[in-house]
Amino acid sequence: MQLVDTIIEARWVLPIVPKGVILENQSVIVKGGNIAAILPTAEARTQYEADDVVSLPESLVMPGFVNLHSHAAMNLVRGLGADLPLMDWLTTKIWPAEGKLMSPSFVHDGAYMAGLEMAASGITTTSDHYFFPMDAARGLRDAGLRCATSAFVIGFPSAWAKDDAEYLKRAEAVLEACKGDEFVRATVAPHAPYTVNDEALKACAALSAKYDAPIHMHVHETAVEVSDSLRDHGVRPLERLERLGLVNERLIAVHAVHLNDEDIDRLARAGASTCHCPCSNLKLASGFSPVAKLLSRGVNVGIGTDGAASNDKLDMLGETRLAAMLAKAVAGDTTVATVFDMLEAATLGGARALHWDDRIGSLEPGKAADLIAVNLATIQSIPVQDPAAQLLYAAGRENITHTWVNGRLIAIRQEIVAYHDLNAVDRANSLAGKWQNRL
Ligand SMILES: [Zn+2]
Repeated sequence: MQLVDTIIEARWVLPIVPKGVILENQSVIVKGGNIAAILPTAEARTQYEADDVVSLPESLVMPGFVNLHSHAAMNLVRGLGADLPLMDWLTTKIWPAEGKLMSPSFVHDGAYMAGLEMAASGITTTSDHYFFPMDAARGLRDAGLRCATSAFVIGFPSAWAKDDAEYLKRAEAVLEACKGDEFVRATVAPHAPYTVNDEALKACAALSAKYDAPIHMHVHETAVEVSDSLRDHGVRPLERLERLGLVNERLIAVHAVHLNDEDIDRLARAGASTCHCPCSNLKLASGFSPVAKLLSRGVNVGIGTDGAASNDKLDMLGETRLAAMLAKAVAGDTTVATVFDMLEAATLGGARALHWDDRIGSLEPGKAADLIAVNLATIQSIPVQDPAAQLLYAAGRENITHTWVNGRLIAIRQEIVAYHDLNAVDRANSLAGKWQNRL
């Protein structure tokens, strides 16, 4: 018998790689923070032993969600200015609040609280975008998450930096500080094409190349962004970014809502990624990203929650469910954005965009043990006819009971409260058994 750290015995395992596969009655073996093996539980019991054996006879185990776009500290301004028009919301609520509160402790505390919410929602890695990025990373790490923090650049003064030169200097310091860190990586994060000038964008491209770091940027979020760019620069934002050297395999184009066929070609040719944030796009009335078209052209798509001010939930399962449904409606085709396409986008898609897919995004031996368990034995998900489809379409984040990062349990939900008397739950379980697998 081989001694390991943790054995997770699951009813179902959804490894993401290979695509479309659901394994039954399997154990995930965790040692030294990594996945050592995935094998049938009956065999695992003859080969491995551990002090920590987690038996989950009614749960599905899968990789943790990779939240490809967050502003974690904005949990502290959640709820401000609901239903205002976008520019009013920003100029009368969000920017004044941030201007007043912005400090290392504001960012740390907000990120920590967001990290707790994310951990309880099955998010094991988040790619954050904000001022005081090392404080954001510290808050997220305090909550147990892995994160990509932002070497953040924006063309106006803040408590973080006063001008382009200082932003760029601090950005490079963030990239240096994250070098070789197992849990905190850095992206180069110019805020958006309309808030950063050409010279600073070129400098961001150079930093991205020098540190081989992803470029994490809001791109083509609104129709006005595109029309203003045509007015001010004579080209659409993506064409301008391409001329400045930012459209390549390191680009994560966040939102990517207003895309014509040429824009999609440009992203596909470059091997760039997009990050789809459907709740934020709906709440801020930005529009609909052409996700099915992007996927069919081979563009890597990840999913993000955006900040709590514009969502307002950091709920990747809910976000992915909405993304799947919207993609079908936008394409007018139910066969696109399949269950496995979208679960892949929410995990491995994000990991690929961050160039972190050698460690995270799927359950494979040798990768980090960043994983979650989802209890499907609840009234909203029984009988279980198709575990993957019911995970995506029927379950909610309240079904997520365990979240591990690098083999360490960072969140656990003791019970999923049912608002029925026990007799009703027993009766529902026996009815589910009666009707399961009768097709
Ligand atoms: Zn954002």
